[in-house]
Amino acid sequence: MSLSHGRPYLAIPGPSVMPDRVLAAMQRPAPNIYTGALHEMTATLFPDLKRVAGTDHHAAIYISNGHGMWEAALLNVLARGDRILALVAGHFGHGWVATARALGAEVEVIESNGAGPVDPGRLADRLRADRSHEIRAVISCHVDTATGVRADMAGYRAALDAAGHPALLMADCIASMGCDRFEMDAMGVDVAITASQKGLMTPPGLGFAFFNKRAAEARRRADMVTPYWDWRPRAAPDLYYQYFAGTAPTHHLYALRAALDLIVEEGIEAVWRRHARLASAIWATVEAWGREGEMRLGVRSAEDRSHAVTSIHLGAPDADRLRDWCETEMGVTLGIGLGRTPPEGWFRIGHMGHVNAHMVLGALGTIEAGLSALSIPHGAGGVTAAAKALAAA
Ligand SMILES: *Cc1c(COP(=O)(O)O)cnc(C)c1O
Repeated sequence: MSLSHGRPYLAIPGPSVMPDRVLAAMQRPAPNIYTGALHEMTATLFPDLKRVAGTDHHAAIYISNGHGMWEAALLNVLARGDRILALVAGHFGHGWVATARALGAEVEVIESNGAGPVDPGRLADRLRADRSHEIRAVISCHVDTATGVRADMAGYRAALDAAGHPALLMADCIASMGCDRFEMDAMGVDVAITASQKGLMTPPGLGFAFFNKRAAEARRRADMVTPYWDWRPRAAPDLYYQYFAGTAPTHHLYALRAALDLIVEEGIEAVWRRHARLASAIWATVEAWGREGEMRLGVRSAEDRSHAVTSIHLGAPDADRLRDWCETEMGVTLGIGLGRTPPEGWFRIGHMGHVNAHMVLGALGTIEAGLSALSIPHGAGGVTAAAKALAAA
């Protein structure tokens, strides 16, 4: 017998749980793409997307996942052979680096140990040494989804400004947007990218690029970008089809409209606060479990932890045994370890997007049941710690 029958809970860091309103919004016949309601609805997406990204500048929508957005961001600002500097705190940071190298960029990497972000001081040192301003862009994941590390984007901007360095600051906000506080303009980020299937609660398949005046200026010398990836017509089309360089992703757009409605109704500040509260309950629980046995949070300091995803060490083979048990016996799917050695020693909890307190308590209660059922040593009082954290404040 399994206790998994009922609504399953995909507690992985993307794709995230899709709200019923998002699912329902896609239940419709194919719309007219030439004129009418679809055109009017598409125009309403941009102000709300910009509000979620914290920018007054430009937004472009792509039919793409996050990997494609890595390319979109780089292609629109780089010329062949340009030098860039990558600040890496995990697997996804390395992924963006590999993409940049494949495009022909000269990529320098400053890496953290994965238990925290690259310190802005290290960036400042490197920028001061670059007297001839060869570095064209600094790229970083805002949240690296493999480690759950959140980078200090405002700190990186301060380092650039202190060095008087003109490089663009570019952020991968694929995991963080709509979860962790991110304010592109206030943080001094020039280019931000994200995708639909995490904090934006929409099926995988849409990508988003936000860019300011400085990035639009860099676009003029970019010499690798092809028509499909060019963000200019997408952000300021003369004709509707130019928004998407072809047929619109019709049903994804309706889903996105419904998801943005949910965010606007709750308020982005409240969305960020909800994620922060739920994350703190998870950390309190893992810390309680970790008082005995092997379990520990991957990110040392709470201020460096994402509010969207938590990476947890348990040791091999217990992390995989636990994930399997939670899925088959209880209907909760947890995330795999990524970019760790060995990956089998880690698991992740996604708590991004359409997630509330009872879902987090359910996932934590499931994990606690699994630790007991599999006789994995752990400290007592984990779920009680979560309940207390949620009851407080
Ligand atoms: C999910 C994710 C990606 C990759 O997105 P895909 O849609 O899977 O291509 C890249 N960067 C970060 C930070 C992510 O969380």
